[in-house]
Amino acid sequence: MKLRLAIILLLGLSILLMGCTQADGPAETPDSGVGLPSSSMETMAVSPTNTPQRTEVAGTELGDTPEPTTAQIPDLTPIPCSGMLTSPNQEGPFYSPGSPERSNLIEAGMPGVPVLIFGRVFDQDCNPIPGAKLDFWLADVNGEYDNIGYRLRGHVYTDQEGNYTLESIEPTSYTGRPPHIHAKVFSSDGVELLTTQMYFAGSEGSADVSTAPDLLVTYLEPDDNGQLQVIFNFVVQD
Ligand code: FE
Repeated sequence: MKLRLAIILLLGLSILLMGCTQADGPAETPDSGVGLPSSSMETMAVSPTNTPQRTEVAGTELGDTPEPTTAQIPDLTPIPCSGMLTSPNQEGPFYSPGSPERSNLIEAGMPGVPVLIFGRVFDQDCNPIPGAKLDFWLADVNGEYDNIGYRLRGHVYTDQEGNYTLESIEPTSYTGRPPHIHAKVFSSDGVELLTTQMYFAGSEGSADVSTAPDLLVTYLEPDDNGQLQVIFNFVVQD
């Protein structure tokens, strides 16, 4: 009897223990089950969030890379007047009246090194001359003038502060002459005030510049695009 009682008690204990294990099991399973999905959802939530963020960053970086480029426009206002009348210089045989009004002489396909020329026109008292007409002409890279049309010929007018700009190719030397651009200055009412030439790099030491050093242009640092820039002021007897 004692043995049977002991067996029954042992069986009862076993059943009780199994019941407890089954009761704890389901309690862990939801924890584990929730934990895994939760962790997966976090991963899924992070991944899409991060992906767009990286995309946005990349987009921002790409957006920043091609920063808008602005044309390099020189500050024309602080160019001082020398107070010395600009030297006259020979007109030469190739002047043609009636050139077109244009501040850019460079045409499509034209060979040469572009240069931006700018400056001011002053009277003998260093007052800026507004509305002055500047007529320019030069030879091409082969040293030839266009004596039929107006290639590399054109005129511009000064603004209210006497400023002018001209885009051209850098002149080259020809038949022993140093690189130069011819120029005539007219008053706003059409009176011719000056005929001269502007001399460029390579003219130093030439007879023309030795006798009139004020006719050498002043080179500035090229702009951010590498374009040559020079200053030349005209001081004329008004
Ligand atoms: Fe010439």
